[in-house]
Amino acid sequence: MRAMQLTAPGTLELRTVPVPEPGPGELLLRVGAAGICHSDSFVLGLPFPMSERPLTLGHEIAGTIEVLGAQVGDRRVGERGIVYLCWSCGECRECLRGNENVCLAAGRTAMPPCPGLGPDGGMAEYVRIPARAFVPIGDDLDFAHAAPLADAALTPMHAIRGAMDQLRPGATALAIGIGGLGHVAVQLLKALTETRVIAVDVDPDKLALATTCGADITLRADADTAAAVLELTDGRGAEAVFDFVGNDATAKLAVETVAPNGAYRMVGLAGGVPGIDSGPAGGPGLPWGATVRKSYGGTRTDLVDVVALAAAGTVRTEIERFDLADARTAFDRLDSGAIRGRAVLIP
Ligand SMILES: [Zn+2]
Ligand SMILES: [Zn+2]
Repeated sequence: MRAMQLTAPGTLELRTVPVPEPGPGELLLRVGAAGICHSDSFVLGLPFPMSERPLTLGHEIAGTIEVLGAQVGDRRVGERGIVYLCWSCGECRECLRGNENVCLAAGRTAMPPCPGLGPDGGMAEYVRIPARAFVPIGDDLDFAHAAPLADAALTPMHAIRGAMDQLRPGATALAIGIGGLGHVAVQLLKALTETRVIAVDVDPDKLALATTCGADITLRADADTAAAVLELTDGRGAEAVFDFVGNDATAKLAVETVAPNGAYRMVGLAGGVPGIDSGPAGGPGLPWGATVRKSYGGTRTDLVDVVALAAAGTVRTEIERFDLADARTAFDRLDSGAIRGRAVLIP
């Protein structure tokens, strides 16, 4: 089969490799589509080898069951679905409580094995997955639109659910960065809450997308964005701020715009420093009562629920399709901020 593999730091190659064989508790999926995430781009940019062997990237996977391994319960060949990206143990205290994204088996990294970031991922014609990771999508959802649900919808869903105490009717939610995750986040906020949604981005096209997705107000990011948000909220700030970028500028913006007792959620992984200190609140720093949470992935329940929202037509991922062989072009467009929504590879 053809697989898009990371073969050396910065090197992506379309290689011909054996089709994997599913063992007990595993499935072989014929890939219908695989989304490209900024974390794939991050891994591609690492200056050291990610693994000893060539690694097939891709953790947003949709496809059809082709082969059943032993002991996979009621799954059947031909079933369509997407892949839950936390390949957790399923048996520890956190997994049993439903918190599979912080599985104890992963230790302090709290990142269970993820396809394309350890085990081979979905940028290939076939992928082998644990049967537990398969989430059915029914017959109607298109694979290309479904694949990004696995991360670009799951992750904002989890971040939003973790801030529901702040997202009361009439509250204001700020979404920073209207890319793959951000454009879905705006739709989720409008679907799940009665809040006013302010979208922030540097790119007018992304703000236009935010409006299409239901944003009430859009702000082009500049030196005055924090002041603009405060003016729109009677000087208090937004009850919930979701940073889908995570660079120094957006982290600082989040601190300056979150309301007292508000929720600041770090989702984007750009390594930005919010500059939070323990001094008295009241100035531009983090206000009294505000919480900061680094939100990783989501739970299986979050994924099942975003699939239901997509099936109902409430959430729709904006995508650009690329042939698997054109992955490099897709990555370059993602890195330059040119992708509207999510780039999706079709094998
Ligand atoms: Zn991702
Ligand atoms: Zn576990």
